[in-house]
Amino acid sequence: MSRYREAKCKVCRREGEKLFLKGERCFTEKCAFERRSYPPGQHGKGAQYRRNRESDYSRQLRAKQKARRIYDVSERQFRRYYATAQQRRGLTGLNLLQILESRLDNVVYRLGYAASRAQARMLVTHGHFNVNNRRTDIPSMIVTPADSISVREGSKKRTYFKNLAKEAESRNPAEWVNRDLNALSGSVVRLPERSEIDGNLDEQLIVEYYSR
Ligand code: SF4
Repeated sequence: MSRYREAKCKVCRREGEKLFLKGERCFTEKCAFERRSYPPGQHGKGAQYRRNRESDYSRQLRAKQKARRIYDVSERQFRRYYATAQQRRGLTGLNLLQILESRLDNVVYRLGYAASRAQARMLVTHGHFNVNNRRTDIPSMIVTPADSISVREGSKKRTYFKNLAKEAESRNPAEWVNRDLNALSGSVVRLPERSEIDGNLDEQLIVEYYSR
């Protein structure tokens, strides 16, 4: 299974909750989940009924898929992250979430330099960011504490980045990152604690899924 390419709002409807994949639109009445909170497809409303009778396996699978979809990670990459999380000290589930949060696209989103992870991914892929003063276009790059992230000088002339400081002002950065709006830069101060990772994720179910 590769990255999930279905329309983002369908993903929310399938998972049965708002995953906030589309930035500002998710907070407006245009949100598809607000209008149709049942799964997509001809039998969507029936699927909503069946969801109430899910097996343990089904709940574990859904928890894993939800995390994959929120961070937009392929199955293969997700398994790799899980293997790395197992090798680290501490709780595997928390380690996994911290690895996902440390992805460059997520850090750009957490800094408030993009309205959604999807937008952050696109900005990174288009090469608008430096990590430690070196251009990178790899959204899955893992950013470690003390790494610096900045918008490239050439990119600052673009309309999006000219308006970014003003736009980003209304977006609170995560507590575990440090942001300099004037310089359009930032850094990761430390790994996030569990309480600082939102998204209604159940990492224990993910661990159970991979421990079967
Ligand atoms: Fe999900 Fe956002 Fe679409 Fe609403 S607008 S269904 S929260 S992606």
